[in-house]
Amino acid sequence: GQYEESLHKTFDRIKRSRLNAYITLNVEDAIKTAKAVDEGRVTGRLAGVPVAVKDCITTKGLLTTCGSKILSGYVPPFDAEVVARLKREGAVIVGKTNMDEFAMGTSTESSYYGPTRNPWDLSRVPGGSSGGSGAAVAGLECRMALGTDTGGSVRCPASFCGIVGIKPTYGLVSRYGVVAYANSLEQVGPMARNVSDAALLLDVIAGHDPKDSTSVDTADKVSYVNYLIDDVKGLKIGVPKEYFGEGTDKRVENAVWSAIMRLNKLGADYREVSLPHTKYALAAYYIIAMCEASSNLARFDGLRYGLRTGKDENWHTTFSRIRAEGFGEEVKRRIMLGTYALSEGYYGKYYLKALKVRTLIKQDFDKAFKDVDILAAPTMPFPAFRIGEHVDDPLSMYMADVNTVPVNLAGVPSISVPCGFAGNLPIGIQFIGGLFDEPKLIRTAYTFE
Ligand code: GLN
Repeated sequence: GQYEESLHKTFDRIKRSRLNAYITLNVEDAIKTAKAVDEGRVTGRLAGVPVAVKDCITTKGLLTTCGSKILSGYVPPFDAEVVARLKREGAVIVGKTNMDEFAMGTSTESSYYGPTRNPWDLSRVPGGSSGGSGAAVAGLECRMALGTDTGGSVRCPASFCGIVGIKPTYGLVSRYGVVAYANSLEQVGPMARNVSDAALLLDVIAGHDPKDSTSVDTADKVSYVNYLIDDVKGLKIGVPKEYFGEGTDKRVENAVWSAIMRLNKLGADYREVSLPHTKYALAAYYIIAMCEASSNLARFDGLRYGLRTGKDENWHTTFSRIRAEGFGEEVKRRIMLGTYALSEGYYGKYYLKALKVRTLIKQDFDKAFKDVDILAAPTMPFPAFRIGEHVDDPLSMYMADVNTVPVNLAGVPSISVPCGFAGNLPIGIQFIGGLFDEPKLIRTAYTFE
């Protein structure tokens, strides 16, 4: 039938592809589902739609590696809540997408399974850490995808690959079955080629889940597709001047401003605003993220899941050897820095300080949203960079996240939408809202469709 045939074409395309967007393909099971949709046995809002899933999201019976050697061979016995919701709506799970190891990165170069390439220019990165999902969507290797965004990992690849990505309000989407990197910051988010698909995917994954204690139990469930309306009349847009800092590419600045002017022509108002603590966001983010990571990643001891090599000696030796072999360089760096920052005598100096800064950043947003409805700014300060450009200089890689991490620190939602090009490279604009303002963001973004 129609769905099965088109799925075969998608798999052929993936097999010929040079993007390296997928770690694992779900061929047999996907074809079975497509067939069932063709025969009317499976229905739903995503019936027959090929969806890709980032490899840190647990899938029952399907390899889940987080882009790491340490999870080689790990086949989970359960589905993440978001995956269960996809299946309930008839989605066809194409496969698991490549990512920076344990979602630590901005380029998808730190994967044990090799870098993913940007479909617009194969010598460039797709962004990260959900770069496999971004490349798969932009490269027509699925229709939509799930990513996770801890400090920009949905919005960065959306920006670099010229697609739409949403970082939902913290607590809107269940994290049950999402392998934790920094749990106080991350959310699963939809990635798609247009706002309509992104809104539809958000509709499917959002909503209370009793299995995740941080999942918010909102009284009524919002239907995001109802906000696919072309109307921004009277909308007040704030343009935070700190988001156009020193390292911002002129072409990005121009594209973002033209997008704001376009919204102005459609009836929106704009004014410059200030989020004065933005300059501390990167430092606070990386301390908090590394501290949480060092604690979360302690569970990978080689005994419970994944890699098991050599002969077992005493617990300490086995544990250390497997971690030494199984983790990549960036993950080790973060575990060590996080452990250091949490250790006695340093905790107050680094971790507690970072938490205080986090509160100030949240207050910046609260204050701004008293005067404006949403904020508009570049998602990334520059277009996709070359593979290898930042790998030897982690700090320069971290700096690329300057405009994305404040959003995660505050827990607020943001959507990244394509707004222009620098040569053949896409540029993204992000709209940021107050808590649970997804409807406003979708309405604004939809005017770009
Ligand atoms: N680049 C950021 C980091 O490395 C964000 C990653 C993410 O959102 N998962 O932590």
